[in-house]
Amino acid sequence: MAKAKAAPTKARSTQLETRIGFGWDSHAFKPGIPLLIGGIQLAYDKGLGGHSDGDVLLHAITDALLGSIAGPDIGTLFPPSDPQWKGADSVIFLQEALKRVAAAGYTVANLDSTLILNAPKIGPHAAAIRTRVAGLLGIPEDCVGLKAKTPEGLNTDNAAVAHVVVLLQESKKKTAR
Ligand SMILES: [Zn+2]
Repeated sequence: MAKAKAAPTKARSTQLETRIGFGWDSHAFKPGIPLLIGGIQLAYDKGLGGHSDGDVLLHAITDALLGSIAGPDIGTLFPPSDPQWKGADSVIFLQEALKRVAAAGYTVANLDSTLILNAPKIGPHAAAIRTRVAGLLGIPEDCVGLKAKTPEGLNTDNAAVAHVVVLLQESKKKTAR
């Protein structure tokens, strides 16, 4: 039997390490509640119900960040069954994920997202959402991608869906390796 080669431990690249994360979320529209997407309140006669304030985009970003460091997901950290998170500001979830990313030694390099919803139109609000998300993440606006699509053929006109990918970069190279 061939001997297993020892893993190379010293000859590491001087490049900063990167990690990728993916997040996905969906919420159903309900009448008479505020609509929050990306930490921005949009004028609409319906909002997104469910966990916390229903901010589908911030939830997907939070899960992407947590996934990038192989952490627990948003539902594990902030269980929907726990009454303290009912109506909670989703920025709290995002900030916890960012804290964990920093503790793991990473910073956010960039993010890309796709919203899938029939209405309201996201285009007029896209700049404000990108500015808000960039501010929350502490990255430039040109590092926040936001696309919106209508759910053609998906039969999900009463729901909003968000897909997010994030790229993390190691904060700084550790000197003793
Ligand atoms: Zn959610």
